[in-house]
Amino acid sequence: MPSNDISAYINRLAKEHTLSAPELLQLLQNSSETSDRLLFEHARRQAQQIFGKNVYLRGLIEFSNYCRNDCLYCGIRRSNKNVSRYRLTPEDILTCCRAGYKLGLRTFVLQGGEDFAYDDQKLTQVISSIKKQHPDCAVTLSAGERAPHIYQQWHNAGADRYLLRHETADAGHYGRLHPPELSLQSRLECLYSLKEIGYQVGTGFMVGSPWQTDENLVQDLLFIKKFRPHMVGIGPFIPHHDTPFSAFPAGSVQLTLRLLAILRLLLPEVLLPATTALNTLSAKGHQLGILAGANVIMPNLSPQDVRAKYTLYDNKRSTGSEAAEGIASLKAQLAEIGYSVPVSRGDAPGVLS
Ligand code: SAM
Repeated sequence: MPSNDISAYINRLAKEHTLSAPELLQLLQNSSETSDRLLFEHARRQAQQIFGKNVYLRGLIEFSNYCRNDCLYCGIRRSNKNVSRYRLTPEDILTCCRAGYKLGLRTFVLQGGEDFAYDDQKLTQVISSIKKQHPDCAVTLSAGERAPHIYQQWHNAGADRYLLRHETADAGHYGRLHPPELSLQSRLECLYSLKEIGYQVGTGFMVGSPWQTDENLVQDLLFIKKFRPHMVGIGPFIPHHDTPFSAFPAGSVQLTLRLLAILRLLLPEVLLPATTALNTLSAKGHQLGILAGANVIMPNLSPQDVRAKYTLYDNKRSTGSEAAEGIASLKAQLAEIGYSVPVSRGDAPGVLS
């Protein structure tokens, strides 16, 4: 396909914020270094138009690595007997928040495996305590699939946002990445119920997961466009040595950047992190992600002694600019490319809190 046709698609995507499925497929299959340059420039400009040259930070607290699920890609899947399991106490979590607050963080993300022993009531109390101690902060949950009344209870306690990646919008592909008891349908039901309850909702997928096709990626993009989440988390799949997918190759950094840029143009106002997985595969992952249209980074705020235990994939970064205590070096990296870090909850535009 001639490169001026690809440029025409990119220019139209930047202007109209939509492309058809065949056009998205052409874009994914015919991109080049030159077309990526144009795509990233448009995406960056779009992000700057809405958010300025600001990057929002979220403090990530990995509160439990127990999980009842057995997702084939994930290092903390229940069948992995080599994981040393931990569960933070409510006081541990509050201590992390206090440390994060001092560092200027105004969003705390509580992420964990689907640990049903971390009972719903206990998490409700943790959410209320965080909101009581830090009323100017947002609480984001990422605790997997739960019943709608539990999502409601957590929202009532003060949780503002919820991250639940759909992982892949193709039911057949979903089935190859997950055990039979998990389904795309129930994942989507959770997402719709979270939205209905009133959360700011995030979804997303891994780039380069086993058997993923370009057509699957187009389905992901179109699902996201239709669902209109407030946040989208994408990062490359990275193999973990103790999973059934240990021998599969990692996803591509360049394709991840391309998809970030396309997402920015499809949903101009979306909150879009340059993820830890991207920064694990490329030492400049944060900077490259921001320059491709991302506007969020989630430094790790978990207690240092548990970080190595929350190993979703091999070599996961949790130190240096990936860590909350490394915020100064993260800020310096962002300053190098002309961006600053406001002390702000960083809500989705138009969301009243
Ligand atoms: N249990 C919650 C859930 O299911 O949403 C949150 C924790 S889960 C470990 C967070 C995300 O990690 C998943 O949505 C998945 O996309 C990502 N993840 C897991 N294993 C991964 C891998 N090997 N490579 C890249 N990302 C991975």
